[in-house]
Amino acid sequence: MKILMLPGDGIGPEIIAEAQRVLEHLATDSDLELEIEHGLIGGASYDAHGEPLTRETLERARNADAVIMGAVGGEKWAENPYHLRPEQGLLDLRQGLDLFANLRPAICFRSLASASTLKPELVEGLDILIVRELIGGVYFGEPRGIETLPDGERRGFNTSSYRTSEIDRVARVAFDIAKLRGGKVCSVEKSNVMESGLLWREEVAKLGAAEYSDVALSHMYADNCGMQLVRQPKQFDVILTDNLFGDLLSDVAAMLTGSLGMLPSAAVGAAGTTGLFEPIHGSAPDIAGKGIANPCATILSVAMALRIGLNRADLADRVEAAVEKTLDAGYRTADLGEGKHNVGSRGMGDAIISHL
Ligand code: NAD
Repeated sequence: MKILMLPGDGIGPEIIAEAQRVLEHLATDSDLELEIEHGLIGGASYDAHGEPLTRETLERARNADAVIMGAVGGEKWAENPYHLRPEQGLLDLRQGLDLFANLRPAICFRSLASASTLKPELVEGLDILIVRELIGGVYFGEPRGIETLPDGERRGFNTSSYRTSEIDRVARVAFDIAKLRGGKVCSVEKSNVMESGLLWREEVAKLGAAEYSDVALSHMYADNCGMQLVRQPKQFDVILTDNLFGDLLSDVAAMLTGSLGMLPSAAVGAAGTTGLFEPIHGSAPDIAGKGIANPCATILSVAMALRIGLNRADLADRVEAAVEKTLDAGYRTADLGEGKHNVGSRGMGDAIISHL
């Protein structure tokens, strides 16, 4: 199996190092044969090549069985024009691989229920999956820009737009996964004030009625969903939503589980395309280089890569169980609060490998 690892910026290299050690350990005590390559993305790529994602790196990603990424971004590149910012490298990678669906599980590990800012009984046993559309909507829509108007005022504008085919393909992913889980999809948009949201609702409803009558479909406005996620998160099974709302709601869901540092994600496309597996958090410049970042989200992204990208559910189960046991044994990075063993990134990696 060929894995391309893209550490990126900030804490990226620190957390990817631990993810790689976990993968390498698995290869020593299973039949997994690995070929691990590294590449640059984000600010690191900009510094080396003058662009946040080179054509060559994209080509290598296409030829890999799975891509595992750390995170991109940082102050150093904040003045770059948008097309040369680190984040653009990630958007280009997702678009270049045609990864239209982002799967973001929010699972609350038993021993972390008290680390959530919500009451433990609200989050204990939480297991929701956010399916976010990833390469359409307002982050990609044209026209976009900042212009100076005749009266001298400046105007910034973006376009939220979806075609029926873009809605249909990501909705299918959500419905198909719901059938393997709790059988419920809640589709989230703002059809009360946005035409792109109204089309979203109509198309999802049409598909649900025509092909997925065995899945319980409901609809919710995005602002209400934000509120319901902190009021009663366990009412949800699969949340299907667009690029912008998915970005926001999955960060809210992350905090239910204790820390942003716990949440993995998978970006997938049509069958046969390479998937991208990455933590949902960013490059955390405030703690970069200190060796204290939580590597769990990245290690759980390795588990998603094994399950979805490499078809090795057996190994994915082992990694997830090792993370759970490590948390149960009281290992905590700083973001998770105090524990029996307060460790940094390397210490958490060591503990997970020993439980593996
Ligand atoms: P962030 O996710 O990097 O950090 C938010 C907070 O969570 C910070 O206090 C950080 O220290 C903490 N945190 C995040 N991951 C952690 C981990 N693994 N362990 C412990 N603590 C962790 O978000 P931000 O500060 O808004 O953004 C920083 C940079 O990251 C920006 O340049 C942004 O554009 C970029 N970003 C990148 C991605 C990505 O690469 N997928 C996602 C979001 C933000």
